[in-house]
Amino acid sequence: MGVRGGRDAARPTLSGVNSPEDLALYTELTEAVGALPAGQQPEWPDPAAVHDAVAQLRAMPPLVFAGECDVLRERLAAVSRGEAFVLQGGDCAETFAGVSADNVRNKLKTLLQMAVVLTYAASVPVVKIARLAGQYAKPRSKSTETRDGVTLPAFRGDIVNDFEFTPGARVPDPHRMVRAYHASSATLNLTRAFVGGGFADLHQVHAWNTDFVRTSPAGQRYERLARRLDQALKFMRAIEIDTDQLRTVELYSSHEALLLDYELALTRVDSRTGAPYDVSGHYVWIGERTRQLDGAHLEFAARIRNPIGVKVGPTTTPDQLLALAEKLDPQREPGRLTFVTRMGAGKIREALPALVQKAAADGLVASWICDPMHGNTYEAASGHKTRRFDDVVDEVRGFFEVHRALGTHPGGIHVELTGDDVTECVGGGDPIAEDGLGSRYETVCDPRLNRTQSLELAFLVAELLES
Ligand code: PEP
Ligand code: MN
Repeated sequence: MGVRGGRDAARPTLSGVNSPEDLALYTELTEAVGALPAGQQPEWPDPAAVHDAVAQLRAMPPLVFAGECDVLRERLAAVSRGEAFVLQGGDCAETFAGVSADNVRNKLKTLLQMAVVLTYAASVPVVKIARLAGQYAKPRSKSTETRDGVTLPAFRGDIVNDFEFTPGARVPDPHRMVRAYHASSATLNLTRAFVGGGFADLHQVHAWNTDFVRTSPAGQRYERLARRLDQALKFMRAIEIDTDQLRTVELYSSHEALLLDYELALTRVDSRTGAPYDVSGHYVWIGERTRQLDGAHLEFAARIRNPIGVKVGPTTTPDQLLALAEKLDPQREPGRLTFVTRMGAGKIREALPALVQKAAADGLVASWICDPMHGNTYEAASGHKTRRFDDVVDEVRGFFEVHRALGTHPGGIHVELTGDDVTECVGGGDPIAEDGLGSRYETVCDPRLNRTQSLELAFLVAELLES
């Protein structure tokens, strides 16, 4: 994962564990980042427990290698030039209970199927980034939650507290950060094993189209495409083109860099270059609620060498966008910075052009990715937080329209999805109605596209890429 297995795989460089360099870096980072206001952090009740958990994390080996992050940065540089397209997806919030073979395999299948559809249409490489193996911390619009007249602290993700609605469960527990590390490690290990062990082999295109998806309209459309791919592979073999390199893929891990105690503890010095990398994931992003220019999160992101994203919502001004780029990518290094727009279907066509124009006029090299989820959330009559599939599609269409009109590159999509047959988003080809949301509503945070809806979205994006 991250780097293709085999001959040309980059040699991993292991950072020293608690080396003098790491110690110096940790001290420098905690001072610089700790001096600034940080939104969305838990109020840990016991400082000694935080100290203990952080000490444990700091002794853990990296989850990813700096060299892999560098390869991803090169891939994203191609995205910024319009020579590749990003597919990023996974749960809004991963859970400890969700660390199972089935769960990880199904999400992987979804991403692989979507990637095939997109690659076929785009005729450029699809950079596959899983929102996986670290997506455990959630920002909340309210710090408390009230149910039936009872008010408790909000759920902030499994890395902080428990989803169960009891006073004890909602107390922030810093040792959950250590559990999140191990959960990420197990997830990443399995993912690397699946990818390296043949599960992602393009010769397996049919094997990903299983169970409920196969019989859906999107699944049938996929089956036709898979048959065409089979033909193409047979043809390649007949003319003795080596198809062996299609036996694995590059897949990267990503999450929101929200919980600073965790991210700082996992930021290490790369022994090759001496540069700091957040080794909790290949790519991290800063969320809409924590991207204040003088805040701790941007300071942290500015100081690590990973490729990074920043969410930009509909209130972002062109000057703010430039200031974000100045802070996060002062060298204007291709592949370093991605703007992840999350405007809402009704706003993207008005809000995005001024930002894209300003970025182009200023010579920014950032990539643009569309998150068509977070601007389209509403509460259904049943009380479920949901999104309309049609709004998701419309926002992606608006994103492409704006970029096509301005001659810039629509660089990819960032979606919340699952590999299961859940009922969390309304609509789709096998439509889910508002009053059906309750039948399999399993998310602990935002509503995700199910596997059929995800595949359908991939076909729609494929059409946009072809047009
Ligand atoms: C998210 O990606 O789950 C999220 C909270 O997004 P945003 O920061 O854009 O609201
Ligand atoms: Mn979300």
